[in-house]
Amino acid sequence: MALLINNDCTACDACVEPCPNQAISAASPIYVIDPAKCTECVGAHDDPQCIDVCPADCIVPDPAHAESKDDLMAKYHALHP
Ligand code: SF4
Ligand code: SF4
Repeated sequence: MALLINNDCTACDACVEPCPNQAISAASPIYVIDPAKCTECVGAHDDPQCIDVCPADCIVPDPAHAESKDDLMAKYHALHP
């Protein structure tokens, strides 16, 4: 499933560059993940890169966007034809 950023985000910007899908952008007051672009890093990395770098531990699964690993891989390939 896609991930989401909760209200503990400090808008530090650390997660934007590591995202392989350019799914994270600045919004006010917190950063947001585009669920159409987040693959949990499936297709690019073993672990979600944004979670690895986030100092606020505020990136969590988004139950509104449940997807299988196959779904996430298909999304990755659609984003990177
Ligand atoms: S899990 Fe990966 S693809 Fe999803 S927002 Fe984080 S860095 Fe981007
Ligand atoms: S790394 Fe974490 S605290 Fe920093 S902008 Fe991203 S979600 Fe917010």
